[in-house]
Amino acid sequence: MNYIQFEYCGAPVQIHGRVHSPHPSLNDSLEGELQDFLTDEDQLHTYDDLTKVNPVTPTTVLKCLQARYSVKVFYTHAGCTLVALNPFQPIPDLYSLDVMKEYHCAPQPKEFKPHIFIVAEEAYRNVRGQLEPVNQSLVVSGESGAGKTWTSRCLMKYYATVAASSSVVKSQNTVERIERRVLDSNPIMEAFGNACTLRNNNSSRFGKYIQLQLDRCQLLVGASVQTYLLEKTRVACPPDNERNFHIFYQMMKGATDEQRKEWKMPRGQRFTWLPKSEKTLEEDCFHETVEAMVHLGINAERQRQIFRILAGILQLGNVNFSSSADESQLCNLDEQSKAAELLCVPAEELQTCLRVRTLKAGKQSVLKPCPQAECSMRRDCLAKVIYAQLFEWLVTFINNSICADESMWCNFIGVLDVYGFECFHINNLEQLCINYANEKLQQHFVAHYLRAQQEEYVSEGLQWSFVKYQDNQSCLDLIEGSPVSVFSLLNEESRLNRVSDTKTFRTRLEKELCGNANISWDKFSKEPHFTVAHYAGKVNYQIQGMVEKNKDPVPPELISLLQKSDNPLLHQIFTDKETENPTNKGLSKVTVVSKFKNSLESLMRILHTTTPHYTRCIKPNPDCKPLTFQKEEVIMQLEACGIVETIHISAAGFPIRASLQFLFVLDVETDSNGILRQEVEKLLSVVLHKAFDLDSEKHNSWVHCGRTKVFLTQSMVNLLEDQRKKI
Ligand code: ATP
Ligand code: MG
Repeated sequence: MNYIQFEYCGAPVQIHGRVHSPHPSLNDSLEGELQDFLTDEDQLHTYDDLTKVNPVTPTTVLKCLQARYSVKVFYTHAGCTLVALNPFQPIPDLYSLDVMKEYHCAPQPKEFKPHIFIVAEEAYRNVRGQLEPVNQSLVVSGESGAGKTWTSRCLMKYYATVAASSSVVKSQNTVERIERRVLDSNPIMEAFGNACTLRNNNSSRFGKYIQLQLDRCQLLVGASVQTYLLEKTRVACPPDNERNFHIFYQMMKGATDEQRKEWKMPRGQRFTWLPKSEKTLEEDCFHETVEAMVHLGINAERQRQIFRILAGILQLGNVNFSSSADESQLCNLDEQSKAAELLCVPAEELQTCLRVRTLKAGKQSVLKPCPQAECSMRRDCLAKVIYAQLFEWLVTFINNSICADESMWCNFIGVLDVYGFECFHINNLEQLCINYANEKLQQHFVAHYLRAQQEEYVSEGLQWSFVKYQDNQSCLDLIEGSPVSVFSLLNEESRLNRVSDTKTFRTRLEKELCGNANISWDKFSKEPHFTVAHYAGKVNYQIQGMVEKNKDPVPPELISLLQKSDNPLLHQIFTDKETENPTNKGLSKVTVVSKFKNSLESLMRILHTTTPHYTRCIKPNPDCKPLTFQKEEVIMQLEACGIVETIHISAAGFPIRASLQFLFVLDVETDSNGILRQEVEKLLSVVLHKAFDLDSEKHNSWVHCGRTKVFLTQSMVNLLEDQRKKI
């Protein structure tokens, strides 16, 4: 190992390398610590915490993760964050009951190998705060396919096991009663809310925050779920080469002959909205979904109603329109009447609703036949609104089934499984909302991380503030701020309901937001778009269709039709909506961004009252290949999920902390009056001045002696590194 040797008062002093310790017994433990100083590449895989890699740069961090991945180590700490690399293959025994117990029973779990169970256990212990109990949040982020849902499931399973309130926990697979029900909410929500996409065979098409409720004895007594922004467009327009929601395929594959008959789904029947997929997916397990429904209390009759609605949606997809001049004709009445029968609505009325628009002129109504494209739009809209409301109903049902009475629980641990930053070739309102959510979470993370760093500096007696660090407030102002922002302009255009909304929205964006450095335009681009500089990178958003998506209009005739359904569930879903919102605001008047902003704000309010723990999931390759690490992919994600940003923040502070004990073999514990510390300061000053010609001003800002540690800035680290290379 290299080291730098200086002379101080004629005696050799070594900063890196083998320190001659006056206490021989200390040498062994120092050896380990010394590795933390200017990292030896062969040892990279041994680094459990990325902040210990020296120097901390994106390249060294990447190398370290790669080295660990190659020896099948998938978890690594990054300060207050846990980085989880997806192995893309089952790792035997990594999540077994024994491993859970090991972490749960360890006096200091953090001394064990990094694992998601450390995060889980830390949060669990934190709940019983020193002064008063503190609620916890486990924020799991990462791009599609990175492993967020897998991780969330692991966390839930951990609590359902270690905090089981049921008297008997027989084995890992027979967690009982409430724990069982909480876990059973997963297969249902995944069946209805997940789909096979190009990026992930089991991609969650909604965000989820689940609060696990704990009683005074810290036992799991219930849970509640909040969901965000279901991608309902998938029901009627599954993207090319992707699939619809799993539940439809589960029905197709798992139905009995009797059910097939009832659902008008004979073997071999083709449905336009169910793109064929060569893949046989493990997610296609109808039986498991039904079983989970039973456990949660969805009785056979309700299930029947649910599946009939879903079958009705599939039939709607097969309804086509042909155009004759400006008036559309249904071309396949048979499909349309099957859909009506399954949805239990009058066939003729369904036909009219799809083909004719009702215009209100004062007290009079005028009927106007719709052109072909509009008929298709109305059909899609009907399917989307039914599916979205059914999903919402399911979530409410799940909550009613698993939520404990308020008097029974006093604290919670929240698990947030939220879509990661997205940047596709074409981005629209969905990506804007998702990336906005990520900006919000990043701001929350940075505030928390800075606070943690600041606290360490204070406890070390250092005077320091992150003056150089810029947060992402200006980007958030651009998106959601007032009085003008992308959201406010979008909402205004949606309210004004202009025919040329794309053009006016674009003009207003350019005119009213040109002062914000986070937005830009390519004036020569054919497709109108704007570019937002997010903390994780620049994203181009297509303007075409954005206002319309934000309005998300549902023709009132469609709602009235569904209210007439003889399917009690369908009837209830749409009648309840009306009662909740007499002006029908729940379905049509509240814009998508307003609704999303409100739900996100309430999530942030909850997060702010909790102690957060961050897990950043990383997808090591885009093809979901087992044990394959592609550097470019990983570095992009480290940037997007804020690890690189964290490194920058560290650089704005002191990326290197070395304990005084390690540097100079001082017994700091006995240095109660700080005399030795002063000696160290003097010694450092002389050493650095002599070796590097460091003037006192630089010395004062680049090197700080804390109570027990020496803090070095990145500049100082670079200087040391240069010196090391010369040796
Ligand atoms: P999306 O945003 O699309 O919902 P996600 O981040 O939730 O993606 P997951 O569905 O959790 O991704 O993970 C994708 C796949 O990766 C899983 O279906 C599983 O096969 C595999 N996987 C993830 N984590 C692990 C793990 N720890 N061990 C083994 N396999 C894993
Ligand atoms: Mg997921």
